[in-house]
Amino acid sequence: MTGFLLKSSMFDLLKICGSDKDQRLIKFLNLQLKLYSQENVYKTAALYGCTVLQMSQRPHGLWHLKDSMQALSSALEESLKQTNAKILFNQKVNSLEYDVQKKLWEIDSSSGDKVNKYYAHDVIYSPPPQGLLNLLVDKKDKYYKYQNRLNNLPKPSGALVFYSALKKENMINICSNHYQFISEEFGSLFISLSEEGDGRAPLGEITLIASIFTRTQDWFDLEKDQYIFKKNQYLNKISKALEEKFNIASEDWLHRELSTPRSFERWTNRPKGIVGGLGQNPDIFGLFGLSSRTPFEGLWLCGDSIYPGEGTAGVSQSALMVSKQILATRGIKNFNL
Ligand SMILES: Cc1cc2nc3c(=O)[nH]c(=O)nc-3n(C[C@H](O)[C@H](O)[C@H](O)COP(=O)(O)OP(=O)(O)OC[C@H]3O[C@@H](n4cnc5c(N)ncnc54)[C@H](O)[C@@H]3O)c2cc1C
Repeated sequence: MTGFLLKSSMFDLLKICGSDKDQRLIKFLNLQLKLYSQENVYKTAALYGCTVLQMSQRPHGLWHLKDSMQALSSALEESLKQTNAKILFNQKVNSLEYDVQKKLWEIDSSSGDKVNKYYAHDVIYSPPPQGLLNLLVDKKDKYYKYQNRLNNLPKPSGALVFYSALKKENMINICSNHYQFISEEFGSLFISLSEEGDGRAPLGEITLIASIFTRTQDWFDLEKDQYIFKKNQYLNKISKALEEKFNIASEDWLHRELSTPRSFERWTNRPKGIVGGLGQNPDIFGLFGLSSRTPFEGLWLCGDSIYPGEGTAGVSQSALMVSKQILATRGIKNFNL
């Protein structure tokens, strides 16, 4: 039944419903969809768009986690420890090489000057797949088609994130933790506000985080002074947009800073600081998306470029999927994870 919608966009659905001329609705949908699918109403796959738009409906809905998204990451970490998983921090994987004789992957990583080697039957690669080929030592010609696919993945967006703090009394009262508005220059501005007593700001103060999408290429290939100039320029422009929207006096900011795709690249090692995985357009959504299986023996993918896409909860779902697939290759099918 849903098959015929596989290649349709959200705009096709609007046409079916006779709402394709409703500019106000289109503007609203563009704002909502960009956050989830990284695409607008014309390019978001219909089935993906319908799923994400109904996520906020009762009785299920979306939640603001107490102690922020960090709470979810900490819970995952705790649960891994309980199953005796060993988590190693501050190690950077530099290369992955498959030993055909031993049927093992050799993983070379470094922490500071120290070089470590690990061996594994299966490797799950969770950073964006655009960086995978740089790590593979042996890029066999027979996988040329797959490599070509990775090389030609659409270029995802980057983000500018404005982090700030101010006294609660110094901005208008907003009855939600999240707020989104359109600015002519930036498009969508997505705002997250802390709640009194949630641990993110001292009592009487709030944190205000605003994020916008940006083209990653606009932030690379700049000399240091050009980069700093541009960063300050955007910091001030975003401050001004927020000051106008929320009646904030420019001297009332207690703290302001901005991160750019260059910051995200340095912090997370995501190529060019890209955020949020692949845009969920009809050419790359669902059956046409990247699978967690790869043609390389024992090498798997998960993370926000793999179904169901971005978000801490979404990538946990793709991790669950890939672990079930690996267990199935070992003949283990009935298990509770
Ligand atoms: C501004 C912003 C706000 C967001 N807000 C939310 C939100 O409120 N809720 C939500 O659910 N999602 C949010 N997201 C999306 C969410 O953060 C991502 O979709 C999610 O973190 C992706 O997880 P991942 O595991 O696929 O990739 P990553 O989070 O990038 O994890 C990959 C990990 O691999 C590590 N790594 C990379 N290369 C190497 C290497 N060579 N060696 C060793 N380790 C390596 C990285 O350091 C990283 O820890 C937001 C994203 C952005 C940019």
